[in-house]
Amino acid sequence: MSNEWPSLVLVTGATGFIGANIVDSLLSRGLRVRGTTRSLKKGELMRQARPQYASQLEFVQIGDISQVGAFDHVMEGVDAVIHTASPVTYDVKDNEKELILPAINGVKSILRACNLPGTKVRRLVITSSFAAVLDVEKNNILGPDFTYTGEHWNPITYEESIDPKASPVVAYRGGKKYAELAAWDFIAKEKPPFDLVTLCPPMVFGRIVHPISDPSELNESNSNLWKIAQGSDPLPEARVPGWINVKNLAEAHAEALLRPEAGGKRYVLASTEPFTYEAAADIIKEEFPWARDIVTKNYISGKEPLAKYKYDGARVAQELGITFTSFRETVVDLIKQVKELSSGRKS
Ligand code: NDP
Repeated sequence: MSNEWPSLVLVTGATGFIGANIVDSLLSRGLRVRGTTRSLKKGELMRQARPQYASQLEFVQIGDISQVGAFDHVMEGVDAVIHTASPVTYDVKDNEKELILPAINGVKSILRACNLPGTKVRRLVITSSFAAVLDVEKNNILGPDFTYTGEHWNPITYEESIDPKASPVVAYRGGKKYAELAAWDFIAKEKPPFDLVTLCPPMVFGRIVHPISDPSELNESNSNLWKIAQGSDPLPEARVPGWINVKNLAEAHAEALLRPEAGGKRYVLASTEPFTYEAAADIIKEEFPWARDIVTKNYISGKEPLAKYKYDGARVAQELGITFTSFRETVVDLIKQVKELSSGRKS
């Protein structure tokens, strides 16, 4: 890929937790970024918070990505795309409508937009999820030496994921799987002029850089850590032992976009240090005197993460040039930031 490329990177979900961190990683590398958002007001707040990047950053409004075609009007001049937009919530009434269709149609929409006549996109990076990789049924039989890699897919069928009796967690896993599969199928069948990279992180925690005015607006994964600081009893359920710091993940997206050799790859990227919510509670108590009497007492302190299986994280980090931030630093950074936000102070 030539030195002039990319001249304009489209980041979808740019006013979300991971998307905004990706925007910052790209801006700090001197790249021009167009972010998509459903709220231009949020986009404007992000621009105002980055006056030094005023000439590099713009926002465009999109509607609901359940509608295929949602990105057709935002492609002018774009030659690289990072697609993060997808619903991340388990507070839904209709799994298919609120979780599965936006995930799948969002990917179909970005593929269609990248392939519109006249567009010059050369690479599309998609934020998939470890949810598209994990085989929950095998959790207790794989053993600590088994490593999940980009070769693995969860075995959920489409019918299982849209079953109204399925939990939102199962629906999310199905939505992310069939969204990502739609992208790889498109590349195989249509042979478009752009290539594809997908990233499949497990839990993502860390500093928020998108505009929120209250802790109640925290994204799903970070809200689990804040709930612990607020005394959540019981602790949130850790469905996987893997996690990654959001800044490390944002760097990985930028590297996946810019490194020619990443084209066509699917990365399972997790810190080599597993986590538990018990460890998060310990860290919060140790680091924040104000939290000592608030954090729930009803948990096993010092609980070691159960090594059910491994992630391909160390190899992928080396391939993409990423260094992992520790869980302690990540928790402290976020809790400090949200505490300041809740007390009306900006960090
Ligand atoms: P956020 O909820 O913070 O961000 C989600 C983004 O998607 C927002 O920018 C939102 O737009 C956009 N979006 C959601 N639903 C729609 C919709 N129906 N129509 C248009 N836009 C929509 O979540 P994260 O940043 O955590 O997640 C980003 C990506 O990372 C997702 O693809 C998710 O599956 C993946 N992921 C997240 C993990 C995590 O632990 N956080 C773990 C693994 C993968 P707007 O800003 O306009 O509201």
